[in-house]
Amino acid sequence: MPIYEYKCNDCKQDFEKLVLNNSQKIICPGCNSDRINKKFSIFAGISRGTSLTPSSGASDCGACTSKACSSCGC
Ligand SMILES: [Zn+2]
Repeated sequence: MPIYEYKCNDCKQDFEKLVLNNSQKIICPGCNSDRINKKFSIFAGISRGTSLTPSSGASDCGACTSKACSSCGC
Protein backbone atom coordinates (compact mmCIF):
# COMPACT_ATOMS: atom_id res chain seq x y z
CA MET A 1 0.00 0.00 0.00
CA PRO A 2 1.33 3.42 -0.83
CA ILE A 3 2.47 5.71 1.91
CA TYR A 4 2.15 9.35 1.05
CA GLU A 5 3.94 12.18 2.72
CA TYR A 6 2.00 15.29 3.62
CA LYS A 7 2.57 18.67 5.13
CA CYS A 8 -0.09 20.53 7.01
CA ASN A 9 -0.72 24.07 5.79
CA ASP A 10 -1.90 25.18 9.19
CA CYS A 11 0.59 23.87 11.73
CA LYS A 12 3.35 22.98 9.22
CA GLN A 13 3.63 19.48 10.56
CA ASP A 14 5.02 16.78 8.29
CA PHE A 15 3.39 13.40 8.47
CA GLU A 16 3.00 10.21 6.50
CA LYS A 17 -0.29 8.56 5.78
CA LEU A 18 -1.22 5.18 4.43
CA VAL A 19 -3.71 5.88 1.68
CA LEU A 20 -6.14 3.10 0.93
CA ASN A 21 -7.99 4.87 -1.85
CA ASN A 22 -7.97 8.17 -3.64
CA SER A 23 -11.15 9.39 -2.04
CA GLN A 24 -9.79 9.01 1.45
CA LYS A 25 -9.91 12.28 3.33
CA ILE A 26 -6.60 13.32 4.75
CA ILE A 27 -6.50 15.36 7.90
CA CYS A 28 -3.58 16.56 9.93
CA PRO A 29 -2.92 14.37 12.99
CA GLY A 30 -1.73 17.42 14.87
CA CYS A 31 -4.51 19.94 14.38
CA ASN A 32 -7.17 18.02 12.39
CA SER A 33 -6.97 20.49 9.55
CA ASP A 34 -7.84 19.29 6.08
CA ARG A 35 -5.67 21.90 4.45
CA ILE A 36 -2.97 19.45 3.51
CA ASN A 37 -0.25 19.56 0.92
CA LYS A 38 0.78 16.27 -0.59
CA LYS A 39 4.51 15.95 -0.95
CA PHE A 40 6.35 13.90 -3.51
CA SER A 41 9.57 13.10 -1.74
CA ILE A 42 9.12 9.40 -1.07
CA PHE A 43 8.48 7.94 -4.50
CA ALA A 44 7.57 10.08 -7.45
CA GLY A 45 5.90 7.16 -9.18
CA ILE A 46 3.62 6.29 -6.29
CA SER A 47 2.54 9.88 -5.97
CA ARG A 48 1.07 9.74 -9.45
CA GLY A 49 -0.91 6.64 -8.64
CA THR A 50 0.29 3.53 -10.41
CA SER A 51 3.83 3.36 -11.65
CA LEU A 52 6.73 2.38 -9.45
CA THR A 53 9.29 3.49 -11.99
CA PRO A 54 12.14 5.14 -10.14
CA SER A 55 12.87 8.69 -11.12
CA SER A 56 16.53 9.46 -10.76
CA GLY A 57 17.15 12.39 -8.49
CA ALA A 58 13.62 12.40 -7.19
CA SER A 59 14.30 10.04 -4.34
CA ASP A 60 17.05 9.83 -1.77
CA CYS A 61 16.80 6.08 -1.75
CA GLY A 62 18.90 4.27 -4.31
CA ALA A 63 19.15 1.03 -2.41
CA CYS A 64 15.66 -0.34 -2.38
CA THR A 65 12.40 -0.14 -4.27
CA SER A 66 10.25 -1.03 -1.32
CA LYS A 67 7.25 1.06 -0.50
CA ALA A 68 8.43 0.84 3.08
CA CYS A 69 11.61 2.68 2.24
CA SER A 70 11.04 5.21 4.99
CA SER A 71 11.67 2.49 7.51
CA CYS A 72 14.57 0.70 5.82
CA GLY A 73 17.15 3.24 6.90
CA CYS A 74 18.53 4.03 3.46
ZN1 LIG B 1 -1.85 20.59 11.26
